Amino acid sequence: MQVTYRFKLYPSLKQVSRLIQWQNKIRSLLNVCLADRIDSYQDTFMQGEFCNLRSRGVASPLACSIHKSASLGEYWKENNPSKRRGDKSKLFNPRRSAYEIHSSFATSWRQTKPWYQDVNSDVLQQGLRNQNKAFGNFFSGRANFPRFKRTRDIGLEFKPGTVRIQENKIKFPSLGWMKFALSREISNNWSIRTVTITREIDIWYVSVLLKDETIPDYSQKSATELNTIIGCDVGINKIAAFSNGEIETNPRIGERFERRLKIRQRRLSRKKKGSNNRQKAGIAVAKVHRDIRRCRQDFQWKLGKKIAAMGDIIAFEALNIQGMKKRCKPKFCSQTGKYLSNNQKSKSQLNKAISDAAWYSLRQKTQHQAAKLGTWVIEVNPRGSSQECCKCHYISPKNRDKEKFVCENCGHYDDADLNAGNILAQRGKEKLGIDTLTVVSRKVTTEPELTGASGNRKNISSAMVDESGNPALFVQLKLFSDWEWNTG
Ligand SMILES: [Zn+2]
Repeated sequence: MQVTYRFKLYPSLKQVSRLIQWQNKIRSLLNVCLADRIDSYQDTFMQGEFCNLRSRGVASPLACSIHKSASLGEYWKENNPSKRRGDKSKLFNPRRSAYEIHSSFATSWRQTKPWYQDVNSDVLQQGLRNQNKAFGNFFSGRANFPRFKRTRDIGLEFKPGTVRIQENKIKFPSLGWMKFALSREISNNWSIRTVTITREIDIWYVSVLLKDETIPDYSQKSATELNTIIGCDVGINKIAAFSNGEIETNPRIGERFERRLKIRQRRLSRKKKGSNNRQKAGIAVAKVHRDIRRCRQDFQWKLGKKIAAMGDIIAFEALNIQGMKKRCKPKFCSQTGKYLSNNQKSKSQLNKAISDAAWYSLRQKTQHQAAKLGTWVIEVNPRGSSQECCKCHYISPKNRDKEKFVCENCGHYDDADLNAGNILAQRGKEKLGIDTLTVVSRKVTTEPELTGASGNRKNISSAMVDESGNPALFVQLKLFSDWEWNTG
């Protein structure tokens, strides 16, 4: 099994300046290589007498790039059978891949630029390897196109076997010993694999990948071991509503820090560009973002752990979050030729709340915790889940009024989100096709006044509390009066 532990690292001042220098140097090499990849690709579309616009190289089979993703470094490799890996009976291909070309380029950079010799060559090469992986992810559709990096984004990755740990001290090649906060124990059975140093503003961290082959990986429960399924409906007022009647309110962490963030951003905007004070103000802003991130992560890990233990299967709704956050279409008045209000302003508030709730990362954390317990996390189609009655499956938009749900067909009433959670669980059961599953639901429907999110915010669940009497009865009375009206 493999695990990654992250510790706070305490490098000395000398080591810090060296680490930043390394980051700077690696960043510049990676960005040159990334630009080279983009340029080389563009050059393949060149027409006319040049084959490279930047160097103004004349088009000729000898001068032009032979690789469409890389032009720097060596294109060809020697046929050395002793160094060849893999199937040696295959015909030797002397062409280097884009990564190999850039790898040879990095070596030549180190020779021509003596200040690069300070950087550990493994760490430098590992940066290129990660960039190559980023391209692989892009071409297979898993990620966006690799971006140009900033110094602070650069992680320093050390190869397995080069780093040594002794109690709360860690030794890196060419950097020496550093102290770190041993916040969790590392058993002697674990072998240390890749070790990465990262920076978050002014704090350094070390991530240690540990491996122990004697411990088996976590195994998922088999289909026969599954007994219960629970539905989880995510939202903004209630971050999670479960089919068993439990509700988690949204802490709205972004909102808590909003004022502080606004003040610091304003301070930043008033500082002169390029000044030291602006840099300081920028750090102050980044620190607020870090606080928000930490708060949210803490909340989500705790909630994710709780959700993962609730049932054998957890059914989430499949959400198209990007689609939800799309801009409103502009409204255009054909007579005056002016734009009309399209409610984008209020939509932006909603978008902010959606981003703040961070449903996707909550689900990812739940999945992580579920993997430890062996429980399943599935996605179901949420279409119409807020309008469908969980008792009689009657679908109508009139069933729902804000947070209150009253079925027009059978009179079942509940909190709308709890009803949706129940529907999700039932759909998950259908999707998996396991008949023995029991949907975890409430046995007794509680009073409507008691459902809904806890009332620290004004606009929550007021609709249910306002009405006196039984809502189901209310509907029946209303129906009756309509009938009376119609029949005269
Ligand atoms: Zn119903």
